[in-house]
Amino acid sequence: MSLKIGITGASGVLGSELQKKIKKNLIIFKGDLTKKKDVYHWIKNNEFKSIYHFAAVVPIKDFNKSVKKSFKVNSTGTKFLVDAIIKFQSKKIWFFYSSTSHVYKLNKFLTDWFELHQLTLLSISFCPHHDAIESCICRKPDSLMLEKVIARYNISVNDSFLIGDSLRDIKAAEKVGLKAFQIKPNSNLNLLNF
Ligand SMILES: [Zn+2]
Repeated sequence: MSLKIGITGASGVLGSELQKKIKKNLIIFKGDLTKKKDVYHWIKNNEFKSIYHFAAVVPIKDFNKSVKKSFKVNSTGTKFLVDAIIKFQSKKIWFFYSSTSHVYKLNKFLTDWFELHQLTLLSISFCPHHDAIESCICRKPDSLMLEKVIARYNISVNDSFLIGDSLRDIKAAEKVGLKAFQIKPNSNLNLLNF
């Protein structure tokens, strides 16, 4: 039985953590994920027990800098991998495809900050879609995300407000009747006068 464990994105945040934990039988993908030939070659030449697929353009600002290229890595590259597995792997393998570590890090920061200030953090919401790829009704300026939170936690819209750093945020707030304050990105909230 094969013991080989495949990993893409080995030098990234999650990839390097995994490399510390698993020292044996690790086969690192060193090719270009957007090249079908590279991906197929890697899968064809190794019989894997499992694959951890971490390679991705993750930070939102990097993704937005080059949407097409990032989509090619994140989506087309993943499809190459899955297609190649179906085509070349004779046994069923365990395939792990992670969400972005950036979401986890940000959530941890927010959770800690609220705890430090003895505030109750009810919910963290985010839209997993990008408007360059697909349209959805949760991405601001649409308001589904806000509507869900308001309904779920029975929030009084009249007693609440929204702080956002783009016009899309403000528009979403207006749709549900929330007061909204637009700030400059990365402003120090302690220095603002509402
Ligand atoms: Zn969405």
